[in-house]
Amino acid sequence: MPYSKEILSRARARLAQARQEQQDTYEAHLQEAYVRYPRLREIDRALQNTMAQVVAASFRSGEDPTEAIAAIKEQNLALQQEREWILDASDLDPDFLDDSPICAKCGGTGYIGSTMCDCLRELCRSEQKKELSSLIGSGRERFSAFRLDYYPDRIDPRWNVSPRALMTKNLNRCKNYASGFSTQSPSLLFSGNPGLGKTFLSGCIARSVADRGFSVVYDTAIQLIADYEADKFGDRTEESRQNLKKYTDCDLLIVDDLGTEMVTQFSLSALYTVINTRILAGLPMIVSTNLDSAGIHSRYSPQIASRLLGTFELVRFLGDDIRLRGKL
Ligand SMILES: [Zn+2]
Repeated sequence: MPYSKEILSRARARLAQARQEQQDTYEAHLQEAYVRYPRLREIDRALQNTMAQVVAASFRSGEDPTEAIAAIKEQNLALQQEREWILDASDLDPDFLDDSPICAKCGGTGYIGSTMCDCLRELCRSEQKKELSSLIGSGRERFSAFRLDYYPDRIDPRWNVSPRALMTKNLNRCKNYASGFSTQSPSLLFSGNPGLGKTFLSGCIARSVADRGFSVVYDTAIQLIADYEADKFGDRTEESRQNLKKYTDCDLLIVDDLGTEMVTQFSLSALYTVINTRILAGLPMIVSTNLDSAGIHSRYSPQIASRLLGTFELVRFLGDDIRLRGKL
């Protein structure tokens, strides 16, 4: 579940804002109630005073504070009761002066001990959704929007299978992968010509897995390399460091368009670092590429090629670009 620092800080900022808004509303309501029922203000002042007295009494040395505290409590109870009567008799909504925390489980802090509370987790999930939406193109990437009828159902003699039959298999495989995703899931390699739905299906998986509460990072190979370059050749700030951690730490990393980036010594080493770190940590990734296995071998170092072709499960996309017919 490690969300990137950026997502976590945006989620925490939203929680803090919600707390502040609730506090502001409560203060405004309280002032309104004081104007309409001035006795309430007197009672609250008296309650605050008696509270201070209780504290003072318990600290006073040399005498037994029990009696004093009991008397103050008595007085307190009477005041509290009067306060309730006033509110009951008033035309204010019963929860007009409700100042209970925005989340009862964690008191609005976002954490129960060192564990993230569901309220903050939900905010992380929603921040991640926003981020994924800005990265994954069209916003239509849902399995239900996938159009199998765009793929010809004639058997293609080149592969002895119809593109539609193959895509039906791929679609089901992707659906099952997303619905059964765990951090122990295998890594997938989407390989095939452009325009066959690789990006669309990896976008569907990203959204679906993110909806289930996992941290998902989706980026192109070009962007991934650019982030590593910015860290290596830029100022190497804490921010650039953290930005790289998202690639190695997230539950699912999806790298789109591998093979479109420029191959340099540096890009090979960055790519190897990401792939190898995730394999060692046992964390899954999905890589999509227009390259076939021969292309991968000729473009990448043997270390990268052997990991991609040996560790990832291959999902083949066969056929001709359906985008050329304006369909995807
Ligand atoms: Zn909470």
